[in-house]
Amino acid sequence: MVESEQGLYCPEGGFHLDPLLPVERAVLTHAHGDHARAGSASYLCTPETAALLRRRLEGARVETLRYGERRTIGGVTLSLHPAGHMLGSAQARIEGHSGIWVLSGDYKREPDPTCAAFEPLRCDVFITEATYALPLFRWDEPTSVAREIVAWWQGNAKKTSILFCYALGKAQRLLAEIARIDDRPVWVHGMVEPFAQVYREQGVRLAETRHVGDERGLLGELVLAPITARGTPWMKRFRSFEQAFASGLLRIRGTRRRRGFDRGFVLSDHADWPGLLRTIRETGAERVYAMHGHREALVRYLRELAAIEAAPIGVAQPADPEGD
Ligand SMILES: [Zn+2]
Repeated sequence: MVESEQGLYCPEGGFHLDPLLPVERAVLTHAHGDHARAGSASYLCTPETAALLRRRLEGARVETLRYGERRTIGGVTLSLHPAGHMLGSAQARIEGHSGIWVLSGDYKREPDPTCAAFEPLRCDVFITEATYALPLFRWDEPTSVAREIVAWWQGNAKKTSILFCYALGKAQRLLAEIARIDDRPVWVHGMVEPFAQVYREQGVRLAETRHVGDERGLLGELVLAPITARGTPWMKRFRSFEQAFASGLLRIRGTRRRRGFDRGFVLSDHADWPGLLRTIRETGAERVYAMHGHREALVRYLRELAAIEAAPIGVAQPADPEGD
């Protein structure tokens, strides 16, 4: 695998992985916008990612590969394996002359009712994400976070509980977690519903949703909205409300207050520090490359304290990260 202007490239297979610019053949790890960009001639991804891409990249030529299915492309064998990040998310395993390489894509080790659990893979070279690669990032058990969210909602009987989150991935994960605890419907912003529809079509059980249209007030209700709706005229429909944010970023002390949220729920779709280290160990890889976020910190740790050959790779941080 080599770095190119368009992103990671596999010369033996003649394809790019999550390319930054349009290419001939793109292999995608998942449907988030900073991994699945428009304009490529063809895409290869899991069927679940393809279902989401049909919403995002209309008219794109998309081929699918089921989890674990092997395909020979040029001189390599490619397969996709669950990454546990969101519906359809995959690690790309590439076997060729230079051994077995695995690109993790975004991943997490915590259980998530909306997607298949991360599958540990053995490899020679592991390219890992490093979004939350600092020792302070440690996640709580997701169902206890979901219970805190429901308790916050129940406590706001005379206010609207507005929970901001990414519209694809995090919102549906929240709807699935909430459905296990509470059978009340959840109100959603117009950006959340189309993706929720795809999740349901793929067999994921979500809380019943109602679209926030011309509805006013909504006292005592829970509303899921993308962070981009915050502070826009869309908010004017709510009279008395509390605002919360669900993100891994809230693990950093002071983030909630600094960003003016009434409540913060630490819930991430990326691996935390122990999850990253455990995963790297489980791959048995001799060489590790780190992408995104705190990649320098991870590389330093692996070299100095774990005696693993490590280096940063790819873009430090996508300009438009999506899903956290
Ligand atoms: Zn992602």
